[in-house]
Amino acid sequence: MLNADLHCHSTVSDGTLTPEALAARAKANGVELWSLTDHDEIGGQQRALEAARAQAMKYLTGTEISVTFAGQTVHIVGLGFDHHNTALTEGLRRTRGGRGERAQEMSDGLAKVGIRGAYEGALRYVGNPELISRTHFARFLVEAGVCKDTPEVFRKYLTEGKPGFVPHRWARLQDAVQWISDAGGIAVIAHPARYSFTPNEEYALFAEFKAHGGRGVEVVTGSHSAQEAARYAEAALEFGLAASRGSDFHSPDESHTDLGALPWLPGQLTPVWELLADRIQ
Ligand code: AMP
Ligand code: MN
Ligand code: MN
Ligand code: MN
Repeated sequence: MLNADLHCHSTVSDGTLTPEALAARAKANGVELWSLTDHDEIGGQQRALEAARAQAMKYLTGTEISVTFAGQTVHIVGLGFDHHNTALTEGLRRTRGGRGERAQEMSDGLAKVGIRGAYEGALRYVGNPELISRTHFARFLVEAGVCKDTPEVFRKYLTEGKPGFVPHRWARLQDAVQWISDAGGIAVIAHPARYSFTPNEEYALFAEFKAHGGRGVEVVTGSHSAQEAARYAEAALEFGLAASRGSDFHSPDESHTDLGALPWLPGQLTPVWELLADRIQ
């Protein structure tokens, strides 16, 4: 089996390592095929591609697009696209738009419960101002001593119904899938076990994703248990989707799954990289 890690984040979105440091860490951990999948942003792709080349590691271009589906945020990973494609670049730019205003509103919500200066605090953790995210707020709230770690911040402040949560409308599922496909890549449903859909809503997500041209699902990912991986291996077979594998690594201090340190894909599945053989660089 190929040690492929097709999901992680750099300072270009909400990771704490540069694309170059991630490439070195992936290589040291035995990764043979790598993809950097920053949220709603492909500005790090050229650097990642060159860093992979310097490490003698195979590379697929990547991104993770925020989508709103049935009232929830769903993440769609794109792999193997042309990172100079205009429609994809423009679609991602529009998806990023609104993060600044959302962050100001998050800060206002936190101020109402006595946490001041969260916007400015979060900004200090941001590598790319267009990509200010809840993760940067979480890091600031830990630094400020409000919580002991970032999962606690999300639980108490940054999820639905909590003071720093601001509902937001991201891209449409069909648009995200189309941007990726039209740029020559493959769309993949990221970490499906992390959503809280009803069975009917989840079926609709998979069915609509497939109908729009989506071709893959993350079966093995940092946040899936063995049972969850088995469940989505079955879903991959049921919907005729290829399977992807990625750590979703963000930071040595925060991520419990390191780059490349994942179980193998179940044997009966088609690995997504087999569909992308001609896109590997
Ligand atoms: P945003 O795109 O600004 O809504 O931020 C989403 C990011 O927050 C995700 O990509 C994760 O990196 C992080 N995140 C979401 N939920 C949690 C959680 N429960 N604990 C830690 N990090 C989380
Ligand atoms: Mn993230
Ligand atoms: Mn995600
Ligand atoms: Mn991710």
